[in-house]
Amino acid sequence: MNIHESEKIAGILEDMGYTEAKSEEDADIIVFNTCCIRETAEQKILGHIGNVKHIKKVKPNLIVAVCGCMSQQPARAENLKKSYPYVDIIFGTSNMHKLKDFILSRKAVRKRILDIDEVPQVVEGINPHRTSGDNAWVNISYGCNNFCTYCIVPYVRGRERSRKVEDIINEVKELLSDGKYKTITLLGQNVNSYGKDLGEGVNFEYLIKEIEKLDGDFEIKFLSSHPKDFTLSLVDTIASSKKISHEIHLPLQSGSDKILKSMNRQYDIAKYLSIVDYIKDKIPNVRLTTDIIVGFPGETEEDFQQTVEVCKKVEFDGIFAFMYSKRKGTKAYDFEDQVDEKTKHERVNKILALEKEIIKNKQIV
Ligand code: SF4
Repeated sequence: MNIHESEKIAGILEDMGYTEAKSEEDADIIVFNTCCIRETAEQKILGHIGNVKHIKKVKPNLIVAVCGCMSQQPARAENLKKSYPYVDIIFGTSNMHKLKDFILSRKAVRKRILDIDEVPQVVEGINPHRTSGDNAWVNISYGCNNFCTYCIVPYVRGRERSRKVEDIINEVKELLSDGKYKTITLLGQNVNSYGKDLGEGVNFEYLIKEIEKLDGDFEIKFLSSHPKDFTLSLVDTIASSKKISHEIHLPLQSGSDKILKSMNRQYDIAKYLSIVDYIKDKIPNVRLTTDIIVGFPGETEEDFQQTVEVCKKVEFDGIFAFMYSKRKGTKAYDFEDQVDEKTKHERVNKILALEKEIIKNKQIV
């Protein structure tokens, strides 16, 4: 999502006549597109922002902008404005389309700008500067309604908003027209709930079938899925399609029903495994990958072992394992029974070792 948003920012700048600079020192504009999914990401980006101070000193006309999830948090945005006086423009996650106006206005009146749109909307018409080879990212929705207790996304990206089917189809048609793109990757925080805000008959399955009908030799991928909205009928559609990828990323997060409940994931292990069984039955060559969070508050050794057991049972083809980290502004921040760092490290290492073992065994078979 962030990579594609950076492509859009680059597209806006290109439309204004800017070209890519070789280095920060060469640039006339530097835009920091930030992530705040983890506090360490915020610390890192603040370090990078701090580093441009010396460039601004020798190049006072340099425009420095900060946008994205981190600056969407009002307190953080105010703090950025106060602590980093050489940052000219601060904007959020849903007003990127105003970047041109921000730059022109900053140049005209030299007044610093802080603009965080409180009403997130779907904006069309930005022409991204695509940088992902023959893969083209295409947003289908923005925001999220799920409120997993560890996640900041619904607070910084707002409630789920789906793009209209015709806007998505037109974008994909255009991408396919020059023959450069072989993969279309549909993006949303939860692609499976696409269309719920658009009215009857429009859902993710409908959209993906419409895209599949388009002429051309291309593959359709999508990110990210949510097990609670992953329907068996979608599995049937994938199984019978010649264009939809057989790589499915289905975040598990934990193998313990108790922890899933505490995470507010809205599915249990029985439901998760029933989808996996159905996928494996209908799509025998599926490449199934997942996300796991270890060390969520209250995760006992027994809960962790349940995660290990589910991983062994499913035999994932890839596991992205993360140690839970406290995120201010989320519900889980205040949960008691936080797991100590040593245990988190041990558990994440065990999951990574298990992933290696599963993949090795699969290769032998
Ligand atoms: S579904 Fe994903 S984006 Fe939405 S709250 Fe949960 S983890 Fe965050």
